[in-house]
Amino acid sequence: MGESSGDKLTCWHKVCGTIDMTKILTCLAAMAALSMAACDAPSQPAANAEPSAPAPASPVQKCMNFGGALEAPSEGEWGYTVRQEDMQRLKDAGFDTVRLPVKWSAHADQAAPYKIDPEFLERIDQIVDWSEEVGIQLILNVHHYNELMDDPETHEPRLEGLWDQLASHYADRPQSLIFEFINEPWGEMDVARVDALNARLMERVRQDNPDRWVVVGSAGWGTLDALLQSDPPKDPRIILTFHTYEPYKFTHQGAFFVDPPMPTGKVWGTKRDLAAMRDEGARAAAFRDAHGQPLLVGEFGVYEEIPMDQRARWTNALRQTSESNGFGWCYWDYATTFKVYDQASESWVEPIRAALLGDE
Ligand code: BGC
Repeated sequence: MGESSGDKLTCWHKVCGTIDMTKILTCLAAMAALSMAACDAPSQPAANAEPSAPAPASPVQKCMNFGGALEAPSEGEWGYTVRQEDMQRLKDAGFDTVRLPVKWSAHADQAAPYKIDPEFLERIDQIVDWSEEVGIQLILNVHHYNELMDDPETHEPRLEGLWDQLASHYADRPQSLIFEFINEPWGEMDVARVDALNARLMERVRQDNPDRWVVVGSAGWGTLDALLQSDPPKDPRIILTFHTYEPYKFTHQGAFFVDPPMPTGKVWGTKRDLAAMRDEGARAAAFRDAHGQPLLVGEFGVYEEIPMDQRARWTNALRQTSESNGFGWCYWDYATTFKVYDQASESWVEPIRAALLGDE
């Protein structure tokens, strides 16, 4: 890769640069806690991987992230409010799944039993209802739980309490509802800690959701390098996941939420660039095959202000690489800073739509 997934710059942005990190002190504390082990994780398949039956096809094939809606301080504040018509549009275009990032940690009590705000839960219920009506699958995750990354001793029990509630609340929903335990762990949440947490959460969720698909990733901001070091639960209904924005200096150049913004003008598309992308895919496929569990590239995309031909080229190459390996993919994102749909004109950003769905 031009920049490896473990690039410290990636970690720097991901700690300090996301738009919900408002306090500089929080940022500095997080930087201090950032585990270099997570940044520098080697990239070989885990030694404990056992050869297994071929992985089943991913139940998620073509998916869209509804970013910037339910992980914002309040829905709409970051430019997108989920609409049922958007789900229908995606379904009609050929998508089978929507991934809904949700910042549950901002809508629940701090003390046990960590009760989720009923009004907030109702809004999510409405979106789950809409997905069932439209006939599109929905991945429900826990997004931007930043306090967990700083202080797992306090917040792991809270996350487990949140999943206790979600697992029982959604137990009777059809299998088109898919759970994802935790988005992009970092900081104190290293590979071993995420492995242990995944195992505990799986045991809890399986009590009332024996057959539901669950998306499971690892540490290091959800990168492949961390996944390759991980030991996912041995469960027949797991979808392994990692996120990729490599090379980061290309996909995030000029992005306002990277502090300081990175220089623009970086281009992508040489043979070497493509080979690096394919190598990442091959390493992910080897891990998937060793574990016999399907794989989903849960986030990938290019910042909206990068020249369109470059955005489309990278996006199409990543999609082709994923499909040729039999991975599902989930584009980041629908309508905000990496948009494929422009709400102002109520129309697709056509080159990105075509990069995702066209025949090229
Ligand atoms: C973060 C978003 C960010 C995107 C691209 C996601 O994981 O949640 O805030 O815009 O990655 O960097």
